[in-house]
Amino acid sequence: MHLERDPADAAFREEVRAFLRDALPPDMAQRNLRGFHPTKADMQAWTRILHARGWSAPHWPVEHGGTGWSPLRRHLFEEECFAAGAPPTCTAAFSLVAPVLQRFGTPEQQQRHLPAILRGDTFWGQGFSEPNAGSDLASLRTRALRDGEHYVVDGQKTWTTEGHYADWLFCLVRTDTTVAPQRGISFLLIDARSPGITIRPIISIDGAHSLNEVFFDGVRVPVENRVGDEGQGWTCAKFLLENERAFSAEVPRNKRMLARLKALAAAQGLAADPVFATRIAEIEVELAALEWLTLRALSEHGSDAAGAWPAGSLLHVLGSELQQKTGALLVEALGERGVIHYDASDADHAAGITADFLYRRAVTIYGGSNEIQRNLIARHLLGP
Ligand SMILES: Cc1cc2nc3c(=O)[nH]c(=O)nc-3n(C[C@H](O)[C@H](O)[C@H](O)COP(=O)(O)OP(=O)(O)OC[C@H]3O[C@@H](n4cnc5c(N)ncnc54)[C@H](O)[C@@H]3O)c2cc1C
Repeated sequence: MHLERDPADAAFREEVRAFLRDALPPDMAQRNLRGFHPTKADMQAWTRILHARGWSAPHWPVEHGGTGWSPLRRHLFEEECFAAGAPPTCTAAFSLVAPVLQRFGTPEQQQRHLPAILRGDTFWGQGFSEPNAGSDLASLRTRALRDGEHYVVDGQKTWTTEGHYADWLFCLVRTDTTVAPQRGISFLLIDARSPGITIRPIISIDGAHSLNEVFFDGVRVPVENRVGDEGQGWTCAKFLLENERAFSAEVPRNKRMLARLKALAAAQGLAADPVFATRIAEIEVELAALEWLTLRALSEHGSDAAGAWPAGSLLHVLGSELQQKTGALLVEALGERGVIHYDASDADHAAGITADFLYRRAVTIYGGSNEIQRNLIARHLLGP
């Protein structure tokens, strides 16, 4: 599908491709195309390469270091990066905490953190979920008690993606237990190396370590690290979660998975099988529809039309379920190699496909489970 009707957009795509050919180290691309979790070293090195070109945060406002590209160009850029095998930048930093700092942070907080994120100097982890507070996030119990010019934080966060890479954690903490749950929550920036923090790995179904539990035991956090007023954490969190859901159909990832499926089907002699070919075609049609829906949402972003349909939740549901469908077909295409016990250090691409299939069971859970997204869609369409 060719999206760029304007020749200038086609030229832009070529410019991005040329940049990727020159700047993306082939070994880095190979590692990322296999399907395992990106390493911190690769993410950091790639962020620095992008930063040198002024491209590390295309979606940020220009005054904070964004590129000023149109939504279509941002989409084309992301698509080309994914297709070439570029690792991601730190999502928790660039896409979650940075927009919150830009909207609610003080000039000092912005100055301290945004340039460091932009350069790839600091990695962040998202400390929202707790053992008994996931979908029902407002029931979180990690306490932050005021002690002079500090908060003292005690409690536990869980499922913290890349928490073991993080220099900083942004956390929702309870600062008041006497008011309605949402009104007693504050948003704190916590140095991940503070005394009293313990980070333990959670090994996921793919055998990998990307998730963590984070324990806080009397951790002292300066009051100046609170974003927004005390009790305003829920407002920051809602803004962040809406950003997280928005445009999360992951079309570039879905495209890369489809390309891999086609290549594998051809190699396994399945492309000529009419039943298998029909299933690939179904995925391709769903993906084309998803891409147009994403572009519609991107083009409406910030306009009055944006609130007319539940774009973020719809895209999240469709994009995540398509990843799972494509992943299942990839494993099927591997035949008996898809069920063998795999070793993540094995260079065979079957290992990456199986590991990715297993990890992608989580895409319908994180960022708000698909059941919750369907509730939001229903509420939007049917009313509260
Ligand atoms: C791979 C992965 C990475 C993650 N990364 C992070 C991270 O970096 N930081 C972070 O803070 N969190 C992270 N999470 C946590 C994630 O946000 C939660 O897992 C998610 O919000 C669901 O919460 P829960 O696991 O507590 O499940 P629960 O909320 O206990 O839900 C259990 C089941 O009940 C369903 N359910 C719950 N409430 C309703 C309802 N009202 N209506 C219908 N169905 C309902 C859910 O859909 C789910 O199927 C991650 C999770 C995963 C799996």
